[in-house]
Amino acid sequence: MIITKQKTPDEILDLLTGKSHIFIVGCGDCAAACKTGGEPEVKAMADFLKSRGRDVTGWVVPETACVSAQVKTAFAKNRDALKHSDAILVLACGSGVQCMRQNDRLSLDVFPGCESLFAALVGADGSFQEVCSACGECVLDLTAGICPVTRCSKSLKNGPCGGSTKGKCEVDRERDCAWVLIYRELERKGRLDVMKKRSAPRDYRKSMKPAPDLRVAKP
Ligand code: SF4
Ligand code: SF4
Repeated sequence: MIITKQKTPDEILDLLTGKSHIFIVGCGDCAAACKTGGEPEVKAMADFLKSRGRDVTGWVVPETACVSAQVKTAFAKNRDALKHSDAILVLACGSGVQCMRQNDRLSLDVFPGCESLFAALVGADGSFQEVCSACGECVLDLTAGICPVTRCSKSLKNGPCGGSTKGKCEVDRERDCAWVLIYRELERKGRLDVMKKRSAPRDYRKSMKPAPDLRVAKP
């Protein structure tokens, strides 16, 4: 899931300077879970913009804002409202914003209402934890399923830096040292021999930006 936080009201008003007819798009998936772009947040944003003198021409919350087919359908159903708009405010992640831009046939200005923070695992208690940085060369088999690239403050792939104290990271004493967690988990599983294996230095070409466009092979 992509974790987002809404821009502040002042930032959003700044973005929309000179725009008076606003269509709002949310996302029923990640942004809804983050409470930044689900239906309640979109309605609250509409009320806020109206209270500041803007004309909200309409709003929609596609099931997933970064899926073109869903956005095309949502736009087709709201074509009249969009025709009377001069801007689209998107309460979703950056992929959602760009999906709007790519699928908007009216060439409206598209504005991001949220900041995209990171991809996260959602805990049973509803918490969000960043656990993967999409490095392109996964080493979880060597680290008991705990990512050193993401959870070690120095992204060390071959063991700890030596600065950990009482299991905490020297960079941030509030955080567990990722390598202490990895060691304990390997120990619990009787796999400490894995600690002796070495990972190759990170090959940044594998997480090259922009990533090449990929297609899912059809069966
Ligand atoms: S090793 Fe790379 S791909 Fe695997 S979880 Fe960590 S960042 Fe993600
Ligand atoms: S103390 Fe642990 S988590 Fe922190 S930088 Fe060193 S190895 Fe990484």
